[in-house]
Amino acid sequence: MNTKTVQSGILSTSLQNYLETAKRLKLDDALIARLATPKERIELSLMPVFPDGQVHPFKAFIVRHSDTLGPSKGGIRMTADVTLDDVNGLAMEMTWKTALIGVPFGGGKSGICCEAHTLTPAAKEILIRSFTRAAHRHIGPEIYVPAPDMGTNQADMGHISDCISYSSGTSITHGCFVTGKPVITGGILGRKEATGRGVVHTILAACEKLKLDIQDLTVAVQGFGNVGSVAAMEVARAGARVVAVADISGTVYDPKGLDISALDKYCQQHEYVKDFPNAQHLPSSAVLETDCDILIPAAAGSQITQDNAHKVKAKIIAEGANAPLTPQADEILEKNNVFLIPDILCNAGGVFVSYLEYTQETQHEQMTVEAVESRLAQRMVKRFNEVYDYAQSEKIPMRHAAMNLAVKTVVEGINARGLHP
Ligand code: NAD
Repeated sequence: MNTKTVQSGILSTSLQNYLETAKRLKLDDALIARLATPKERIELSLMPVFPDGQVHPFKAFIVRHSDTLGPSKGGIRMTADVTLDDVNGLAMEMTWKTALIGVPFGGGKSGICCEAHTLTPAAKEILIRSFTRAAHRHIGPEIYVPAPDMGTNQADMGHISDCISYSSGTSITHGCFVTGKPVITGGILGRKEATGRGVVHTILAACEKLKLDIQDLTVAVQGFGNVGSVAAMEVARAGARVVAVADISGTVYDPKGLDISALDKYCQQHEYVKDFPNAQHLPSSAVLETDCDILIPAAAGSQITQDNAHKVKAKIIAEGANAPLTPQADEILEKNNVFLIPDILCNAGGVFVSYLEYTQETQHEQMTVEAVESRLAQRMVKRFNEVYDYAQSEKIPMRHAAMNLAVKTVVEGINARGLHP
């Protein structure tokens, strides 16, 4: 497949990273083509009637990249500019992520072309239910299991689950159709925090290996949604000084350290970090160039490119977001000796806890938050150490190490299943 014909930044990044991995692993051409291509790429037309009585048309997408290791798993992105190619790239990332973190899932993703924050709660619920009805035959515990991603949250997952059980005339679904649901409707304690906490587990594991004390380090976080806010809170709790936080409205900066709990409370009231008192205010993109030790991109894809990579001052980048760095940025940062914790490792805590939710739903037994957190911490640190040790022994960058291990696992699964039609 020619990456030059691919328009989406995310798909281009995912494909390029995969194709280079396939070359390193000397995969044969048939296998390379098979894993470069998704199993299903679906476009849906949604026509919900909103509370204003009008039909509001939206495009939606579902991509199931792989189901070799289990049902396709991956979140629903609701942003105005999401494309089918983006969803394709993100679904491919999920295939490697689930394989690397060691859960029996494949990779999938959905997208709904709508700016989530412009909707009233009632309109958003109608849109999510419209998506669920249109997507119903592609969703299921053995097919594709969605979860939250940018623009979607726990409440939306609750509405998906309700819509599916309602359609089958039952009070609960038969098995886990969606993860990241509210705990009261079968969700798991700690899922909402899992991705951000997982990011910080990998940062602390990196500090251990690099012999750094987190209490001496400064941090900048791009994105203050589900992943970014929890990561900022947890890294501050671990003793780091969070000097900059950005969302779409701008960057707030304080070299002495921001009060993250106060910022979180402020955002619950005012939605955005903009105008947070007692901080300097800078444009949104300034966060990436902050003078700090650790940068956590936790917003959109393709944020650090060949145009701004040389301006990054951080010594460690922890990819809370999916595909925030282009391959060209990777090369520049590698030359500048920036230590990278790649997305398929760094932000895999969410899908790991989603797996616990999936198993909890079949066992009908609520896990305690202590059990969830302890299993999350153990898994993140174990996988981080395996990737780090492999990267050291092979003298390769962390992204290459993570991708080699992930792709090898999927190929092992393909070989174990044998020839497919
Ligand atoms: P979210 O919608 O909860 O939050 C996104 C945040 O990013 C918001 O604060 C928004 O204002 C900010 N943002 C968007 N564009 C920005 C820009 N250009 N500059 C600065 N800030 C910007 O989304 P989320 O669930 O936290 O997801 C964030 C990233 O993490 C995405 O890349 C997503 O794919 C990835 N991720 C999420 C999960 C999860 O469990 N939610 C799991 C793995 C990976």
